[in-house]
Amino acid sequence: MQTITLSDAAAPKPATPELGATVSALADTELAPLAVRIDRDGLYPEPFLRRLGAVGGFRPVAAADLSSQVDVIARVSEVCLSTGFLAWCQSALIWYVRNSPNAAAREAWLEPAAAARLLGGTGLSNPMKAFFGIERLRLKARRAGDGFIVDGTLPWVSNLGEGHVFGTIAECVDDGSKVFFLAECGAPGVEIKRAGPFIALEGTATYAVRFKEAPIPYRNVLADPIDGYLSRIRAGFVLLQSGMALGLIRDCIAIMREVEPALGHVNRFLEVQPDALEAECAAFAREAQALAEDPFDPSPGHWRRVIALRLAAGEATLKAAQAAMLHAGARGYLASARPQRRLREAQFVAIVTPATKQLRKMLHDLDDGPGVQRPQ
Ligand SMILES: Cc1cc2nc3c(=O)[nH]c(=O)nc-3n(C[C@H](O)[C@H](O)[C@H](O)COP(=O)(O)OP(=O)(O)OC[C@H]3O[C@@H](n4cnc5c(N)ncnc54)[C@H](O)[C@@H]3O)c2cc1C
Repeated sequence: MQTITLSDAAAPKPATPELGATVSALADTELAPLAVRIDRDGLYPEPFLRRLGAVGGFRPVAAADLSSQVDVIARVSEVCLSTGFLAWCQSALIWYVRNSPNAAAREAWLEPAAAARLLGGTGLSNPMKAFFGIERLRLKARRAGDGFIVDGTLPWVSNLGEGHVFGTIAECVDDGSKVFFLAECGAPGVEIKRAGPFIALEGTATYAVRFKEAPIPYRNVLADPIDGYLSRIRAGFVLLQSGMALGLIRDCIAIMREVEPALGHVNRFLEVQPDALEAECAAFAREAQALAEDPFDPSPGHWRRVIALRLAAGEATLKAAQAAMLHAGARGYLASARPQRRLREAQFVAIVTPATKQLRKMLHDLDDGPGVQRPQ
């Protein structure tokens, strides 16, 4: 079992007290009533995302204030993980654009995405796995003027729809170099096809994306080559995911506390108790905040701590959701009940890239040198 060293930093910082309170109020009033439909009917909460953008919910990541953005994602995930994940997708998109060395790309995309007038996400699962020796890059590019032509398919990209955009990576067939670019859904050669249905996260507008001779103009090229750029964005990409874990764990603690008056006399015999989970969750939040202080820290030690936090928070999410279910008992087993939804959602935190197995491989490779690679 990998362990993380928890920092003694100060208590977690909210996304400015005003923004934090606004996001929670918005989530309670406008998102909570939709959570069951998002989960069961696959309702895509686009109006909520746009409202979140309008109240400044994506401004922190645009300003590289990742601690506050983690807090926003946590507050949304506390109510609904589908929407928390969508908030992460949007945050990752903004993170890619704000860190692009291409001024034309920043000029075209940063402000609309930060305000959530433009929605979108990230297709980095395949590249993340490719860079850690798990699979091959699925997208191929060839140079065309100051842009590229891209071919290939990505099986799952969320927060999509006509006119939405997402960041991803292709391998150049000319010289084996890699290009990081923004794809526009519905642009020539870029087709999206609904994926799923899934057991949870059904409201995440998740699509397979097929590139067929798709032209990528210069203003969509975020990095070429990608080397220095990837090391600038990687910690933020993973760190922002801790918001999903924090929010979900907090709601699992709330579930346990809600049933305490009726069931506390017997629930006290269960192994996982809310006080201990609360302490663990607070430690994760402190560590996320400490690591977010310099998301561009290039040191291997910082990167290792980011991975270790992500792994520990994912595993604690599974533990918390399982415990919430055990505390709630049969009332949590109803198809409309929160505990069973949180249990299904928790699995996603552990399997979304970087998945638990990948995080364990990454730590292994960092500590013991590159281990098993995908057979060629
Ligand atoms: C609801 C949902 C939303 C997602 N949103 C995004 C997103 O926005 N961006 C993004 O980049 N990734 C997204 N993913 C993919 C996700 O991040 C992981 O890559 C995926 O869960 C598999 O990760 P893994 O490491 O466990 O690989 P494994 O499950 O071990 O899979 C190995 C490979 O097989 C492929 N594979 C497995 N089953 C299928 C299948 N039925 N059809 C096609 N390919 C398959 C996987 O994509 C992967 O390349 C999403 C997945 C889900 C379930």
